[in-house]
Amino acid sequence: MVAHLLKQNNPTAKILIADPKESFSKQGLFEEGWNDNYAGMIERIGPDFGGANVAVDPAAMTLSIDGDVMDVDVCNVIPAMKAGRIAELAGITDGNWAPVNAADMSSTMDDSIHVLGDAAAQGDMPKSGFSANSQAKVCANAVRGALTGSTVFPARFANTCWSLIDTDNGVKVGATYEATPEKIAKVDGFVSQTGESDDVRAATYQESIGWYDGIVADMFG
Ligand SMILES: Cc1cc2nc3c(=O)[nH]c(=O)nc-3n(C[C@H](O)[C@H](O)[C@H](O)COP(=O)(O)OP(=O)(O)OC[C@H]3O[C@@H](n4cnc5c(N)ncnc54)[C@H](O)[C@@H]3O)c2cc1C
Repeated sequence: MVAHLLKQNNPTAKILIADPKESFSKQGLFEEGWNDNYAGMIERIGPDFGGANVAVDPAAMTLSIDGDVMDVDVCNVIPAMKAGRIAELAGITDGNWAPVNAADMSSTMDDSIHVLGDAAAQGDMPKSGFSANSQAKVCANAVRGALTGSTVFPARFANTCWSLIDTDNGVKVGATYEATPEKIAKVDGFVSQTGESDDVRAATYQESIGWYDGIVADMFG
C-alpha cells in the first residue's frame, strides 16, 4: 500500500523491511506483486541478513541493521506483540498470550473469564478482525447457553485475510476451523495462487469490499 502511494508521488523512494521472522503470510504472492508492480522499490531483509538485529535512533533519524547505519525519512517500528496488560494483571497469560478452551473461548486459567481476538492463544487461527468476530460468535453462543440453558451449537470458526497488491489486484488466504480439546484446529483452507489472471484478482478485490461491508453491518448494524 505504501509502495502504491510512493509510485505515484515519489517513484525513486526505497522501502526497506527489516523482518526478524523467517517467513510471512502470503509471502509468495506479495513478492510476486512487489516484482510485478514496484520493481526495485521494496527490499526485505530477513533474519539471515540481520533483520532481527535492528536499532533505531529517532534523534538522528537513522536505522542500524546488523551494524549498517542508514538515514531514513520515515521509520515504522512494530514492537513484538503481546496481550494487553489487563490480561497479565488478571493472571490469565502464559507467555505473551492468554490460553483458551476452543469450545467456548474461556480462559484455561479462569473459566469465568473469556478471551477472544488477538489476546487469545487459541491454536491455528491467525490474529485478524475476521477471526475475532468469528470467535465472538462462538463465545456469545456458549455464554448464552451457560446463562439460560439454551442449545449451544458446536463451535465452528472461519477466517479470510485479503490484501491489496495494486488497484483491483486482491489476494486472499483463509480457512475454516473447529474446536478440539487442545485448540482451535484448522479443517481446510485456501490461498490465492501466483500468476492468477487480472479477472480473478479483480474478483478477489471485490470480495474483500463485500466482506468489509458485511462485517461492518454485522458489528454495528
Ligand atoms: C495494519 C493492520 C492491518 C490489518 N488488516 C486486517 C484486515 O484487513 N482484516 C482483518 O480481519 N484484520 C486485520 N488486522 C487485524 C485486526 O486489526 C486485529 O486482529 C483485530 O483488531 C483484533 O481485535 P481485538 O478486539 O482482539 O483487539 P484490538 O482491536 O487490539 O482491541 C483491543 C482493545 O482493548 C483496548 N484495551 C486494552 N486494555 C484495556 C483496558 N485495560 N481497559 C479498556 N480497554 C483496553 C485497546 O485500546 C483496544 O481498543 C489488521 C491489523 C493491522 C495492525
